Amino acid sequence: MVVSSPVFNSTPIFNSTLMASKPLEEARQLPLGKIVCVGRNYAEHAAELNNPVPEQPLLFIKPATSAVTMQQPLQLPKGVGDVHYETEIALLIGQPLSKASVTEALASVVGVGLALDLTLRDLQAELKKLGHPWERAKAWDGACPLSNFIAAEQVKDWQALELSLSINGVEKQRGQASQMLMPIAELLSHISQTFTLLPGDVVITGTPAGVGKLAAGDRLQLELTGLLKVATQVI
Ligand code: ZN
Repeated sequence: MVVSSPVFNSTPIFNSTLMASKPLEEARQLPLGKIVCVGRNYAEHAAELNNPVPEQPLLFIKPATSAVTMQQPLQLPKGVGDVHYETEIALLIGQPLSKASVTEALASVVGVGLALDLTLRDLQAELKKLGHPWERAKAWDGACPLSNFIAAEQVKDWQALELSLSINGVEKQRGQASQMLMPIAELLSHISQTFTLLPGDVVITGTPAGVGKLAAGDRLQLELTGLLKVATQVI
């Protein structure tokens, strides 16, 4: 089923600065697909939530309906406990990828951007205790704000990609792809052994330490160092 995407069909973002390039025009043509997410891909983040580091990547999927554009203020669900931010590097897939080798994997990426893997942390804790899937805590409508994407050719060194998040002027998260337990190329190859990635799919690559609660009025500044800046606000 083709799902029209509010993210990719949007007009240029007024509150984000694309430092290295114009928005990736190709992204606007792609129907947004599934969002494949990686949990506990940075050791310090696993430790801050008292989770063991997994032996292989922990994967889950957010549906296309969880995506919203960061150019709109973030609307959080109410009465469901804490809503946590997790800032992540997002990869936009442009070529089908299935059972790919590590050397083939990066060629499928057409765009790079930022995502917030919004998580109902209290609910997730309950679900974990019950041994239930996490979707109710992570896959709700609006649970995956996405920035615009810049062309993947802008990335000279994938391991050097660095993200940061400040809230109300205070830095909360900073992480570099080199700190990931599984680097981006390996991660894509690994994911493609289980899930075929299709054009329009997005992979979000895990969050560094520093996750926390969002509150109404919070002003967020996200940056992919040297490439992309986004400002948004919680209403
Ligand atoms: Zn995450």
